[in-house]
Amino acid sequence: MTGSQKEALRARLEFYRDLGVDELYRRNTPLADARGSEAPAPRRDRERAVTASPESSALPSLSPSGDTLDLIRADIGEDCKRCRLCEQRSRIVFGVGNEKARLVFVGEGPGADEDAQGIPFVGRAGQLLTQMIENTAAKEGIPIKRADVYICNVVKCRPPENRTPLPDEMEICGQFLFRQLMAIRPAAICALGSTAAKALLATKEGVTRLRGRWHKWRDIPLIVTYHPSYLLRPYNQDAKREAWEDLKKVLHAVYD
Ligand code: SF4
Repeated sequence: MTGSQKEALRARLEFYRDLGVDELYRRNTPLADARGSEAPAPRRDRERAVTASPESSALPSLSPSGDTLDLIRADIGEDCKRCRLCEQRSRIVFGVGNEKARLVFVGEGPGADEDAQGIPFVGRAGQLLTQMIENTAAKEGIPIKRADVYICNVVKCRPPENRTPLPDEMEICGQFLFRQLMAIRPAAICALGSTAAKALLATKEGVTRLRGRWHKWRDIPLIVTYHPSYLLRPYNQDAKREAWEDLKKVLHAVYD
């Protein structure tokens, strides 16, 4: 590897590290195989990126300057098979809302309604989220609707039986979430539920310990609150009240 290639690789790995991606996966490309890539390793489908050369890595391209939601959506493709969640999904659920939103909501992953429609948060939990955003904003005198914010998930394909996404699925698809957040660069992020909080804050703590105070994703203020599907359960009155408090806090911080 030449000096300039090493420098390019170093810069790229630093960029991924800044995004919170600690481990990358290398797929040998047909070109690399045809060239007789340096010693196909026994663990060729999962190697630390530090062993990969720039030519042979099939890492998704990241372009922090000039990245757009359209480019990110195009990079995902129409039939993404980067993780096992592709196997049972109907549609990739990328995100919805204002591309220049000052507030982004991040959930866990699509459910059945979202999988069918290709739009995040359109089922019962989504309707509750819409009510929460619009009713709270109206009560607080903040003139915004759901269409003014941006809404997306950590993983873009529905996990089977609505199970929680697995760590490797969150890591692989999470890079697209990180790009979405960097492209939008909102004034604040609201993580809905512990899966989104874990993906964005790299923490093992649950919502009850994380909510009610400010965190940061990179340099963007982030608040954690309950996922609307949790709030739909009838015995969660206290959580509902707390979620409304969280929402008020983030709405005022962003729009006052
Ligand atoms: S969850 Fe993300 S990475 Fe996995 S198949 Fe779907 S779009 Fe691709």
